[in-house]
Amino acid sequence: MRKLFVGLSFLFFVFGFSQEKYPQDAFRSPVDIPMVLAGTFGELRSNHFHSGIDIKTQQREGLPIYAVADGSVTRIKVSLWGYGKVLYIAHPNGYTSVYGHLQKFAPKIQEFVKKLQYKKQAYEVEDFPDYAEIKVKKGEIIAYGGNTGGSSGPHLHFEIRSSISEKPTNPLLYGFEVRDATNPTLLKLYGFPLSDDARINQNKNTTAINFTRQQDGTFLADPVSATGTIGLGFVGYDRQDLAANHNGVYSVQQLVNGKVYTDYDFESFSFGETRYINTLIDYYHYGKYRQRIQRLYKAPGNRLSIYNKLENDGKIEVKEGLSYKVELLIKDYAGNETKAIIPIEGKTEPVKIDKDEEKTENYVIAKKPNNYDLGGAKVYFPANTFYDNFYIDLKTGEDTVTIHNNRVPAHRNFTITFDVSKYSEAEKKQMFIARLDSRLRPSHTSTYKRGNTFTTRTRYLGTYTLAKDTVAPKIRPKNFKEKQWLNNYHYLSLRITDDLSGIDTYSATLNGKWILMEYEPKTNTITYNFDDVILDEKECHLEVTVTDNVGNTNTFTSTFYRK
Ligand SMILES: [Zn+2]
Repeated sequence: MRKLFVGLSFLFFVFGFSQEKYPQDAFRSPVDIPMVLAGTFGELRSNHFHSGIDIKTQQREGLPIYAVADGSVTRIKVSLWGYGKVLYIAHPNGYTSVYGHLQKFAPKIQEFVKKLQYKKQAYEVEDFPDYAEIKVKKGEIIAYGGNTGGSSGPHLHFEIRSSISEKPTNPLLYGFEVRDATNPTLLKLYGFPLSDDARINQNKNTTAINFTRQQDGTFLADPVSATGTIGLGFVGYDRQDLAANHNGVYSVQQLVNGKVYTDYDFESFSFGETRYINTLIDYYHYGKYRQRIQRLYKAPGNRLSIYNKLENDGKIEVKEGLSYKVELLIKDYAGNETKAIIPIEGKTEPVKIDKDEEKTENYVIAKKPNNYDLGGAKVYFPANTFYDNFYIDLKTGEDTVTIHNNRVPAHRNFTITFDVSKYSEAEKKQMFIARLDSRLRPSHTSTYKRGNTFTTRTRYLGTYTLAKDTVAPKIRPKNFKEKQWLNNYHYLSLRITDDLSGIDTYSATLNGKWILMEYEPKTNTITYNFDDVILDEKECHLEVTVTDNVGNTNTFTSTFYRK
């Protein structure tokens, strides 16, 4: 009896941790090909953690997508950005599955969406059907995989959320099979001197720590000399057996002399906290090198709930004469583990490289609102725009303001206001506030125009300038010509582009009636499907109107024949 009890508790210990909370057989795969991931749950992305898994669809669109269980479609959205065409299906067990970047929906859902699009005369629509209005069965084809929205290649973005709290959970917790026997990859190790007196290898700045691979597969760092309060961080990724994609790791642990100092994983997180990713990574390093260091300690402003355990916020107090053995364990969901050992010696050695901090006349206290009048432009940061205090670098030029640089993250929107009193009404109409990227290419920001001021709200530090767009968008047919017979054509497609401020709205009519044009900004293409409307006239007049973000408008007309 005792033996049985021990055996059972062992089983519970091994399999019981997180899976017992999640149903294991409730969901089938949303695809009928082996699940190969191009992205994992919790993966580090721009300003957010990835809230689902990205399932590869063999580099093509049109792969059937299946309902993972019986349920009811509770939300449908068609958007140019984000998830593109997306379906939300609520299941009786309290979970909602989400399917994003779809090419198109299955016929009965497609019909529902088309009706809505024609009623609202818009391509981008969103609807929350009543429960049981659109029922689906487990294994029913609900859509076809695509590349719509913010997607850079065909794949299915798949999520499992709590239907009530909408909190996303790691889909792999539900027993989906993904082949993975490959250990996570450790690319780099870093040390962060945190207290004023701290230094690592005689350096008061973020310091790279060299390491080598041992015979047993673990990594061993060169001995580190340090003093004061320090933190560690790493750069790494996970790769699965059948794909080259660099995916996010599942769990991270830091042990100091055998004691767990840091333990976090990506079982779930809430959308409300996802932007705090900017405190988990070293944003300065990210802004400078586009590489994400995951910190093993809690930096100021970090409100993430992903931690299972934190000792001293993951920070190590290094004392003179003592040695510390730090173990870093990085795991993927399948349990493959990469281990690194970092020996630290407490030694107060003279500083060779002093803190590289540029002091300016403006010190931002993150908790307080901060207002700057730069002459010609004003910048207002509400309280808690930033995670931490810092010396902000502000510069102005002719109709331009540079607000520090891209190495400091903003958690909240701040406002930039330009004085435009020197411009005429006609000029102001065609002007807008543009953000310049690192290569000084301008992009439109939503500009609120009131009297002699232009204002924009943004969460990106960097350079902003007043720009002027005088050229209307261009429209040209892609697959047809004027006065052509189009009997065997399934669709019409046109190319629409704008030189500077970007396309704001577009619309099209056929013989005076509104028609749906699906827009794909990635290819500058709008497409009409001839199945949408039955044409009773032989001679057809197409009219397409496109307006840019400052109101410059162009209209294209064409006549074609069809019977
Ligand atoms: Zn995704």
